[in-house]
Amino acid sequence: MKFGGSSVADTDMIRRVAGRIAAAAEEGSRVVVTLSAMGSTTDHLVSLASEISGAPIPREMDMLLSTGERISCALAAMALGDLGHRARSFTGSQAGIRTDGNHTTARIESINPERLVQALDDGLVVLVAGFQGVSSDRDVTTLGRGGSDTTAVALAAALGAEVCEIYSDVTGVFTADPRVVPSARKLPRLSHEEMLEMAAMGSRVLALRAVEFARNHGVTLHVRSSARAEEGTWITEETPDMEQAIVSGIAHKSDEAKVTISGIADKPGVAAAIMTSLADALVNVDTIIQNVSADGLADLSFTVPLDQLPTAQAALEGLDGEFGYESLSSDDQIGKVTLVGAGMKSNPGVAATMFRTLAAEDINIQMIDTSNIRITVVINRREVERAVRVLHDAFDLAAEASRRADV
Ligand code: ASP
Ligand code: MG
Repeated sequence: MKFGGSSVADTDMIRRVAGRIAAAAEEGSRVVVTLSAMGSTTDHLVSLASEISGAPIPREMDMLLSTGERISCALAAMALGDLGHRARSFTGSQAGIRTDGNHTTARIESINPERLVQALDDGLVVLVAGFQGVSSDRDVTTLGRGGSDTTAVALAAALGAEVCEIYSDVTGVFTADPRVVPSARKLPRLSHEEMLEMAAMGSRVLALRAVEFARNHGVTLHVRSSARAEEGTWITEETPDMEQAIVSGIAHKSDEAKVTISGIADKPGVAAAIMTSLADALVNVDTIIQNVSADGLADLSFTVPLDQLPTAQAALEGLDGEFGYESLSSDDQIGKVTLVGAGMKSNPGVAATMFRTLAAEDINIQMIDTSNIRITVVINRREVERAVRVLHDAFDLAAEASRRADV
C-alpha cells in the first residue's frame, strides 16, 4: 500500500491512513506500506536548501530530502501502535533498497528484503520510507521527485506481492484530466503499456519510472482513492481476453518547447552529433522529425521540456564550429495531445478521425509522433485543452467502452 503526500498531509490524515492500513492487516493480509513525505514537505526541504546554497551538495541534498518520508513512516507506525497493531518503520537503506550513486536521481539496482520478510513473519506491519535507498558507498540516495511510487512498485516486485495499491487524492486513472474534461470517466482497467504511454505523455497519476518498473516486473497496480473505499483503476499485464478499447484515454502536456535547426548537411553523423550534444547536456529530447530539402540540406525539429529549452539552445549553439547550419529557432508555446489505446494496433482510421476532428476546430498540427498504441500531436499550447475536449467527444470516451460507438 502506497500513500501519497496529499494523503498524509497532517497528523489527522496519518491517523486515517493508519486506520486503512489496520483494516487491511485485520483482513489477514501481510501488509507493507510505503509513504511519501507529508504534504509539501519535500518542496519545503528543497527551498530550505536553496536558501542555504546556490548549488546544494547532492549528497547532502539526499540526506535532507530523505527525512520527509521517514517522518511520515515513524508517525504512522506510532498511530498503528495506538490502534493495537505492531508496526515498524524502516528507512530505504534498512529495507535493503540498493541504488546507484547518482544523488537526487538514483536508480534502484537491487532489493534485499530480508529484514522486511523477517518483520512480516513476526506478524508486524511494515512501513518503508519512500523515494530513497542506499548506494554501494553506503550513502543515502533519493530516487527523484515522485519516487515513492517507484519504491512501492519495487518492493511489491521484490516481495512477490499480490498487488501494489497506490492511494492518492484521485480515485483512479481517467479518460482525460477531469479538470479539463468534466465528463472524463474513471477507467476500470488499463494495460501496463497503455499506462506507460499515458504517464510519459502527461498523465500525472503515476510516476513514469514506477510504471516502467511495474511493466518490466509484471507488478499489478491498483490506483485508488485514499479517502474512499471504491475500486480504482487496475493496471495489469495485457491478456488476450482483455477488452481492448481502440482509444482508452487522452493525455496532454502544456509545458513543452520545440527546437528547429535548419540547413544542416544531409549526411551520416549530423543527427548523431546533434543528439549527442543534447544528451551530454542531459536534455530530454522527445518527438524528433527530420525533413529533407531538395538541395541536400535538411531541417531537424524536436521537442524538449520547456524548462530545458535554454540548456538545449546553449548545447546547439556550441555545435556551430563542428558543422554548419543555417539557423536555430525555437517555439516555447507548444503543447502535446496524445491518444492512447491498445486497440489502435489492429484498428485503422484512428489518426484520420483525430486529424479530422482537429481540422474541424481549425487546430493546426505542427508535428506528429506515433507508437503502435499512441498518436501524439504537437500543437499550439493555447489550443491544448480545447483539443483534449473535442477529441474526448469525438471518440465518445465518456461512455463505457462496451457501449461506445467506436469511430
Ligand atoms: N516526497 C517525494 C516528492 O515529493 C517523493 C514522493 O512523494 O513520491 O517528490
Ligand atoms: Mg509526492
